[in-house]
Amino acid sequence: MRFLPVFLDLQTGPVLLVGAGDLARAKLRLLLAAGARIRWFATDGHHDVSGVEAADAARIELAEGDPLAADLRGVIAVLCAGAGDIGTAMSVRAKAVGLPVNVMDDLSHSTFIFPAIVDRGDVVVAVGTGGTSPVVARRVRECIEAVLPARIGDLATLIGRWRKLVHGRIPEFTLRRRFWERVIDGPIGALVLAGRSDEAEAALKDIRDPAAFAGALVTGQAAGRVTLVGAGPGDPDLLTIKALRALQDADVIFYDELVSSEILDRARRDASRVPVGRRVGKPGIGQDAINKLMIEAARSGQRAVRLKGGDAFVFGRGGEEVEALREAGVAYSVVPGITAGLGAAAQFEVPLTFRREALRITFLTAHKAKDADAVDWSALTDEKMTVVVYMGMTAAQSVRAGLLAAGRSPQTPVGVFARVTRPDSQAAVGTLDELPDLVDKIDGGPAILVIGDVVAHSAPWRRQNLDQVIFEILEAAE
Ligand code: SAH
Repeated sequence: MRFLPVFLDLQTGPVLLVGAGDLARAKLRLLLAAGARIRWFATDGHHDVSGVEAADAARIELAEGDPLAADLRGVIAVLCAGAGDIGTAMSVRAKAVGLPVNVMDDLSHSTFIFPAIVDRGDVVVAVGTGGTSPVVARRVRECIEAVLPARIGDLATLIGRWRKLVHGRIPEFTLRRRFWERVIDGPIGALVLAGRSDEAEAALKDIRDPAAFAGALVTGQAAGRVTLVGAGPGDPDLLTIKALRALQDADVIFYDELVSSEILDRARRDASRVPVGRRVGKPGIGQDAINKLMIEAARSGQRAVRLKGGDAFVFGRGGEEVEALREAGVAYSVVPGITAGLGAAAQFEVPLTFRREALRITFLTAHKAKDADAVDWSALTDEKMTVVVYMGMTAAQSVRAGLLAAGRSPQTPVGVFARVTRPDSQAAVGTLDELPDLVDKIDGGPAILVIGDVVAHSAPWRRQNLDQVIFEILEAAE
């Protein structure tokens, strides 16, 4: 991000507009709509204000003379559109006195740029692309226009009118935020969006006990809770809508090492982020300490999110955490996530079940060789079963030995899928016999093993076969 979006108060002084023609007039219209006062130097000497309403025209000062010699005192920004070389010279002058300046379509002479704007009264959304592509900005704006309720600005205006009063009645910040969330998400918000602001305001006035409305405990404190959220295997677009909502509502987020920074970026800006997982070479703070942190956070009225890779209930210790929360009497809920096995299946096109070929799926973990030794491999000999192994990289040798000893064919197709759904994902496919070699080809975890005939349907398998066929044809042709 090179340009920080900020909102300029146009009440504090005039904007200097330099330029002529349609380009200058388009900027004139934009500035007028935003309520600006404008001092306009028409570089072609022709101040054409046709089509501007009289009331608006009163805010335009038609300036004469050389803009390069103009008095810049009190001016809040300089704008050049259709000004030719004068625009460049004007930029030098403005920069010298530290005034924000924009020269249209000239990034190198601009210290600010115009975003694409969604205008809903008090609610304004600015979309920028750092000057790289106005077309992309417009597309984004269209998406936002489509999802933003038409009267969202009215909602902001209503809240603006009542803010001070409510502030006086609910001094505690967290509780006050809950109050407004309940207003916005509840019937009052719905009334405003339906165009019934008067009724909404009456309902707001009717709230006798704002703290109780906000859901305060008898102690006057906000009620806290914990949400266990599955973050999925890495791609932030694989978060569920519920997960996103929980992240947006969170006061504090306790996250694991598997959770990518792109996912944390989707959380509420003000939420504190606490890493609690194991790091490379570091053991992590331990399960008891994590439980204590969550319980503490909820008891102090915070909305805590426990964010875990994949799904919390698939080799994620979600069960243990929920148990601890229950024992402590803390309110909690669980939001599922896409587990790594399903992420791998979708990305690499491994149908985990397939017609008569694969009728069962087993998810198992084999973290270390000794875990693998504890697995009852004889239960996994069914040829029609797809086996998905979590944490199986280091124990690949034992997984292979266990399955072969139990009688699975050494020719059974297997896939090692690493960092699935992330930009640097990787796959290695081959036979069960080759499993340890396949793992060696992987440049780093996390990785998951999929074992079963269905791997032969996967995209990497098909590609490998095609390469082989091409190789054989070429060799035969030589
Ligand atoms: N709760 C998680 C699993 C945690 S156990 C889930 O549901 O996915 C950690 C193991 O998950 C890793 O050792 C690896 O086998 C697997 N895993 C997690 N994220 C992965 C990813 N992006 N790509 C491949 N495997 C992954």
